[in-house]
Amino acid sequence: MPVESGAGIGQPKRLTVLSGPSGVGKSTVVKELRRRHPEVWLSVSATTRAPRPGETDGVEYHFVDDAEFDRLIAENELLEWAEFAGHRYGTPREPVLERLAAGQPVLLEIELNGARQVRANMPEAFLVFLAPPSWEELVRRLTGRGTEPPEVVQRRLETARVELAAEKEFDVTLVNTSVHEVCDELLGLMVAPSA
Ligand code: ADP
Ligand code: 5GP
Repeated sequence: MPVESGAGIGQPKRLTVLSGPSGVGKSTVVKELRRRHPEVWLSVSATTRAPRPGETDGVEYHFVDDAEFDRLIAENELLEWAEFAGHRYGTPREPVLERLAAGQPVLLEIELNGARQVRANMPEAFLVFLAPPSWEELVRRLTGRGTEPPEVVQRRLETARVELAAEKEFDVTLVNTSVHEVCDELLGLMVAPSA
């Protein structure tokens, strides 16, 4: 199905992908953006990881088991999917295409390999890289969040080094120093033409 055409210079970029290393602040930025701009539609991914305290099925994620994730892949129900730190994550295809067809701004918050798949399959997508102010600050945020045991934090930091090296594959980089400012910048990119 053609999703969006003519998203060149001067056209709104309706499908925006936000990516960046674990702990950089993607969920925080997205939550704030959604609070201030409920018209932005955020895709709810499926994942095989367990819910963190406070997470609700169908809100942060659709929490599924391995068999269900296998089925989603087999039936081609995912726009993209990837394995990250021992679990699988994927974007349900249909809701995204529906929102795009309705002309609503759509935001995907996904990791690097998923962003690459979107780039390959939907060239009109606009890819935003969220970068930390420094490596030390990234370590501080990921450790300070306190949601993962040390060995998982370590694994995520190793992946973060690879993800940081991929920054140049993205259309734009936003440095997450201030959540408020990054939100403004991100919204500007989603609803206004980019240079
Ligand atoms: P991600 O979704 O990228 O894994 P989170 O949104 O969970 O990251 O943020 C990781 C931690 O960093 C959280 O404790 C969050 O409160 C904190 N954080 C996010 N953005 C900022 C910021 N701009 N300044 C300081 N701390 C931040
Ligand atoms: P977390 O376990 O911290 O919620 O997410 C881990 C990583 O998976 C984050 O980088 C997040 O952006 C990414 N992620 C979340 N949903 C998806 C998805 O649907 N597809 C892909 N490829 N990555 C996702």
